[in-house]
Amino acid sequence: MIDVKMVLLGPPGAGKGTQAEALMKRLGVPAISTGDILRDAVKRETPVGLEAKAFMDAGKLVPDEVVIGIVVERISKADCKDGFILDGVPRTTVQAKVLDEQGIDIDIVLSIEISDEDIVARLGGRRACPDCNAIYHIESNPPIREDECDKCGGALGIRKDDEKETVLNRLVEYHNETEPLKAYYGAQGKLKTVDNIPGIAETTAAIFAALGI
Ligand code: AMP
Repeated sequence: MIDVKMVLLGPPGAGKGTQAEALMKRLGVPAISTGDILRDAVKRETPVGLEAKAFMDAGKLVPDEVVIGIVVERISKADCKDGFILDGVPRTTVQAKVLDEQGIDIDIVLSIEISDEDIVARLGGRRACPDCNAIYHIESNPPIREDECDKCGGALGIRKDDEKETVLNRLVEYHNETEPLKAYYGAQGKLKTVDNIPGIAETTAAIFAALGI
């Protein structure tokens, strides 16, 4: 295990979830996706889920206080004591400041760089499993059997927030709210950037090289 508290940054569809999984295997620390936690809450219709649903369906960010509660609780669990990979959080400067104030000391922030044009093309082909959250792409990472999850057999579909109009909203949110985190963490000397390159394994290799792991 390599003890590290890491944040993955990048626009929706940059491959954060996929790369978080590769990093989790390599580093041996859990990957935490607030998007997955929120989607699960929506599915189970918990109070958090009921509050978050309309924001998520519209491609808007869920209010900071909701997300902060979720991530602080998750990080306090025993499996995160030696480190974790945060996928999709913090997503605003307010969220990043709260983590700092709570003494959750991030070691490294990795930003996956990809153009808006590539994102729109990519998310159009994305398919997700509603049961286990696994992500596929009809061209670059297809499931073995069409429309069926390799991991759990769930029926793959297009996530509501991957529909085109929602994707465009999510990109606006990314540029306005999340991209400033590059400067925030850059000023702390924690930022590393990696250009997205075609191929999941190639991008993973570039990330491992940037991190020296
Ligand atoms: P993701 O799977 O990370 O792209 O997240 C899906 C959706 O969940 C986002 O479009 C937001 O509506 C919401 N969400 C996830 N993480 C956060 C966060 N850190 N802050 C605010 N909203 C979030």
